[in-house]
Amino acid sequence: MEHGDCRSVDDVAEDVGVYRDWSRAVVLRLLLPLLAAVAACSAGLYHTVRPGENLYRIGKAYGVPYTELARVNGLENPDEISVGQLIYVPGARRQLPVSIITPRSANPARPRQSTSGPVATAAVAKRKPRAGAAARVPSPPSVTTALGAARRTTANPGPAGSVNAPSGKEVSEFGFSWPVKGTLTSTFGARRRGHHDGVDISASNGTVIRSASAGKVIFSDKLAGYGNVIIIEHDRGFTTVYAHNERNQVKKGDLVERGSRIGLVGRSGRASGSHLHFEIRKNNIARNPLHYLPPV
Ligand SMILES: [Zn+2]
Repeated sequence: MEHGDCRSVDDVAEDVGVYRDWSRAVVLRLLLPLLAAVAACSAGLYHTVRPGENLYRIGKAYGVPYTELARVNGLENPDEISVGQLIYVPGARRQLPVSIITPRSANPARPRQSTSGPVATAAVAKRKPRAGAAARVPSPPSVTTALGAARRTTANPGPAGSVNAPSGKEVSEFGFSWPVKGTLTSTFGARRRGHHDGVDISASNGTVIRSASAGKVIFSDKLAGYGNVIIIEHDRGFTTVYAHNERNQVKKGDLVERGSRIGLVGRSGRASGSHLHFEIRKNNIARNPLHYLPPV
């Protein structure tokens, strides 16, 4: 049903007003079905798209399939929604918070199945191997030095928690560099519950976080579960997300260069240890950051 078909409560009340002189019982008998029809029909509101949201998540927050939102709003491409855009949500009665980052499950150090694609070219360092880790790895990781200068392998990158993430000068073909120097402890992809929309880079408290590319800060605030979060908008529809920060050192509207200091690593929000949760999104869809960053 198009929301334009719905009549407002006022319209209905006007019609009902004709019967004002009737006995109360008769009016109620007429009124109730009308009000029920209004309740079923007119519920719905416009949701204002905020940074980091996408149609799928908006739909999830309101319990409406994103395909239905796309249809009702006449969106040919559900990926192409922008911040500030109004999305009509049929059936909704009040604006609901939309989780802009998928909630993460607790244990980032747990080894995970790696994702496919360019991540497979990531070299694996043997730094601080954990007891028993090798037994859970399908194929043994090869060895490289920090900053990925040495041997590379096309094998499975092995357990999360063993890949060094360089930061600084190296830039990928997409214009991104690593936001922090640390150890990759969790990769992008399916988790036991839900989906991990980024990578986790373990680094000690207070380690400098640098913008992965030039852009404009569109969000710098706290977010439930994610603590201090920064979201930076780049060109070509890219945004990057930096979460669990000890401190944000930029504010909304700031322009940053690639490599600009934007904050400090911490464990704010729901984090089991000091680390950076980092996402790269294109048109608000989280992509595997390892596909867009320089190889480790
Ligand atoms: Zn994370």
